[in-house]
Amino acid sequence: MKRYKAKAANKIQAAQRARRRLDPMKDRARDAVRRAIKKGALTRPTTCERCGEEKKWIEASHDDYRLPLVIEWLCAPCHRKKDKAALQEPTP
Ligand SMILES: [Zn+2]
Repeated sequence: MKRYKAKAANKIQAAQRARRRLDPMKDRARDAVRRAIKKGALTRPTTCERCGEEKKWIEASHDDYRLPLVIEWLCAPCHRKKDKAALQEPTP
């Protein structure tokens, strides 16, 4: 039992470490998009690439945070749906 508990704690710590590793990358990717828009290298569109609907605010969705300028422009509902699907899919 004691051994099992220690194992579980290790698992939790590993998950926390993984999250912390990912978050700075997320921030960096968002910053890169912001900077690119400011420089004029990227333009935030007004339509979602998935549903094609025109929205006031289109979000940049990253498939890979290591490629901060490879993005899919999505409306908020499509972005949420995509992120949810990504969480459910097993990572290759
Ligand atoms: Zn959409």
